[in-house]
Amino acid sequence: MKLFTILWTSIFCSAVAFAQETPRSLADNELPSLLTIYKDIHTHPELSGHEERTASFIAKELRAAGCQVTEHLGKYENSKLKGYGVVGVMKNGDGPTVVVRTDMDALPVHEETGLPYASSVTTKNDEGKEVHVMHACGHDAHMSAFIGVARALAKLKDQWHGTIVFVAQPAEETGNGARALLHAGLYEKFGKPDFALGFHDKADMQTGHIGVTEGYTYANVDSVDVTVRGVGGHGAYPHKTKDPIVLAAEMINTWQTIASRENNPLDPIVVTVGSIHGGTKHNIIPDEVKMQLTVRTYKPETRERVLAAIDQIAKGCAMAAGIPPDRAPIVSVAKDQFTPATYNNPELTKRLLAVWKKTLGNENVEIVDATMGGEDFSEYSLPDHSIPAVDFHIGAVDPVKIADSKKNGTMLPSLHSSKFAPVPEPTIRTGIIAMTAAVLELMKK
Ligand SMILES: [Zn+2]
Ligand SMILES: [Zn+2]
Repeated sequence: MKLFTILWTSIFCSAVAFAQETPRSLADNELPSLLTIYKDIHTHPELSGHEERTASFIAKELRAAGCQVTEHLGKYENSKLKGYGVVGVMKNGDGPTVVVRTDMDALPVHEETGLPYASSVTTKNDEGKEVHVMHACGHDAHMSAFIGVARALAKLKDQWHGTIVFVAQPAEETGNGARALLHAGLYEKFGKPDFALGFHDKADMQTGHIGVTEGYTYANVDSVDVTVRGVGGHGAYPHKTKDPIVLAAEMINTWQTIASRENNPLDPIVVTVGSIHGGTKHNIIPDEVKMQLTVRTYKPETRERVLAAIDQIAKGCAMAAGIPPDRAPIVSVAKDQFTPATYNNPELTKRLLAVWKKTLGNENVEIVDATMGGEDFSEYSLPDHSIPAVDFHIGAVDPVKIADSKKNGTMLPSLHSSKFAPVPEPTIRTGIIAMTAAVLELMKK
């Protein structure tokens, strides 16, 4: 009788212990192993479109977590680039389909963090130039958390039903990785999801916190090339030329009036001329000037209007300067470089906010301002935002450093800085808890 009682108690206790496994306890259990993974990925960064080692590492981990894995997914406009996308499908009966996305690529940055596991990798970029490579955007932390989420959800199968599609995406930094996966038939092959979730570390938020924006959170990103054509000649005889440099200067100033005079100030836009090249010598007026612009908007109709205004102003300025029609400026929008705005579905954001506040505590969940940055996570919700999606932020900075920076006004290294690295343990831990809790909410039994 006594033996029976002991046996029964131990069975009962282990059942209770199993039932009590939570995203938090599972994150804690997995952290030591994920930290080793993080350091390994951090020391082996790969540039956008070249994520070969990283992708096969992720594939192996997803397989070990119980996913059915497909490798080498992705179809780029540039046929020379290989698709290194990895998809891991975790099935658990009928139910909703949810995409969980991580990015995989690193940046051509020379690491200066001084960390013992800092990257010393160099490689040739697509132009054949030797560059240093670094995970300066924290995608290594995303991948580590992503693996943790897969492991946790595999152990929590009694709490959810449906299909989780884990997507490890290449080429986020170049803005064409998500599109390459969709072009390769991501949704045709693995099913159109009911929801898509992504996360990104944040270089000015403390660890343990997460943040989210309802509605637009990142902007439409357009790249525009402008060639201003004039009539060159001697710098001492401007009256015998049509000077494209003065004309380019006029265009730059007039483009700024799109934001200040043509646009509703409550609908943010940015027009930045990031590059201008023309001429060879002090006393020669050149034939042409080339400019490269980045244009940021949120709404599709605003995007169309701003791009049209850039073209109209360029041509109008040229006409006013007496440039003949056959030498009108050439304005071209690089369609293959477009990144759509990221829109966090308001209803889904509210639903997840409630879960996160319960799981992480009210004080650890922040409402974050939208930015004019870009993120190709937007592609997963499709151009009409018909797939509800949320991309949230994970705090990555030591709270003491955040407090110091607020007190002394010292600048913290931003994403893409050679000195930026997340504090790995708490960043990965919070990422796992928040993402796992979100998936459980959307797929609960
Ligand atoms: Zn980045
Ligand atoms: Zn990034």
